[in-house]
Amino acid sequence: MTTVAFIGLGNMGSGMADNLVKNDYNVLAFDLSEAALAKAKEAGCTIAQSTEQAAAEADIVITMLPAGKHVKDIYSNQILSSVCEGTLLIDCSTIDVETAKSVSELAEKKGLKMLDAPVSGGVAAAAGGTLTFMVGGDAEAFDKAHGVLSAMGKKIVHAGGHGAGQAAKICNNMLLGATMIATCESFQLAKKLGLDAQVFFDIASNASGQTWSMTTYCPVKGVGPQSPADNDFAGGFASALMLKDLGLAMQGAKGVNAQVPMGELAAKWFEMHCEEGNAGMDFSSIINRLA
Ligand code: NAD
Repeated sequence: MTTVAFIGLGNMGSGMADNLVKNDYNVLAFDLSEAALAKAKEAGCTIAQSTEQAAAEADIVITMLPAGKHVKDIYSNQILSSVCEGTLLIDCSTIDVETAKSVSELAEKKGLKMLDAPVSGGVAAAAGGTLTFMVGGDAEAFDKAHGVLSAMGKKIVHAGGHGAGQAAKICNNMLLGATMIATCESFQLAKKLGLDAQVFFDIASNASGQTWSMTTYCPVKGVGPQSPADNDFAGGFASALMLKDLGLAMQGAKGVNAQVPMGELAAKWFEMHCEEGNAGMDFSSIINRLA
C-alpha cells in the first residue's frame, strides 16, 4: 500500500485526502488545526504528530496550503530534511511561479523529485474527486504522480517544467476574472437597454460573445444552468480567492514584464469588491457592483 503524507487538510485538502483513502492509499495527515485533523481522522486518515513525522514515513508527500510563504517554509524547514530518498513531492497549493520554481530547485539539490500541481474545480470537485491538475515538473515525476493525482481528479495535464503548473493556473484564472467582469457588464448593459436577460443569454451563448462565465456559470439568477447566482452567490469560488489568484498573476506579469491591462483592471475591481464586504461571496457577485 502506498503511503501519502497529506499536509494541509482545509476546505480543499480534506476532500482530496478523503478520496485518497477511498482509493486505498494509506494517508498520514497533518494540519495545524485540530478541527481539520478530527475531520481527517473521521475520513479514515492516520493522524501524524508533525509534518516531519508524516513526511519521513511517506512514499509521496502532498501539500495543500494557503500561500507561497507556507509552502516555502514547510518544505525548507520541515519536509526536505525529513523525507527518505525517492519520496515524490507534490505541491497542490496555488502559489506564485517564482516560489514554485525555487522550492523545486531546493528539492532537486537534495536529489528529490518535485511537482507543482495546482488544481481547478473548487471544493465540490475536491470532494467529488473531479479536480483538474495542472502539473509542472519533469516527465518522469509526472508519470510517477499520475496514479495518485487520478485518485483525486479527472483531468491531469502536464503543463511543462517547474512552475508551469502555476503559470497555467494563474493565466487561466486571470482570463476567468476578466471574462466574468465582461459577462456581468454585458448583462447589466443589456438590461439597461431594455433587453431581457434570458433572451440575451440565448443569443450570446450561441454567438461570438460566448464565454464559460456566461454559458456554464451565468451571474444572473434564473438564467442558464444552476450557478451560485441562483443561491444568492453563496458557495462557489470566493471573491477573495479570485483576488488572490489575480494578485499572483500580476506578480508573475511584473516579473517577466508582460502587459496585462485587462488582468490589472480585473484585480482592481475584485479588490474593491472584497473591500466592500464581499470577499466570502462567489466571484460572480461582482455583477452587483455593475448595477
Ligand atoms: P484552507 O485555508 O481551507 O486550508 C489550508 C489548510 O492548511 C488549513 O487547514 C491550515 O490549518 C493548514 N495549514 C496552514 N499552515 C500549515 C502548516 N504550516 N502546517 C500544516 N498545516 C497548515 O484553504 P483551501 O481553500 O483548502 O485552499 C488551499 C489551496 O488551494 C490554496 O492555495 C488555494 O488558493 C487553492 N485553491 C482553493 C480553491 C477553493 O475553492 N477553496 C480552489 C482551487 C485552489
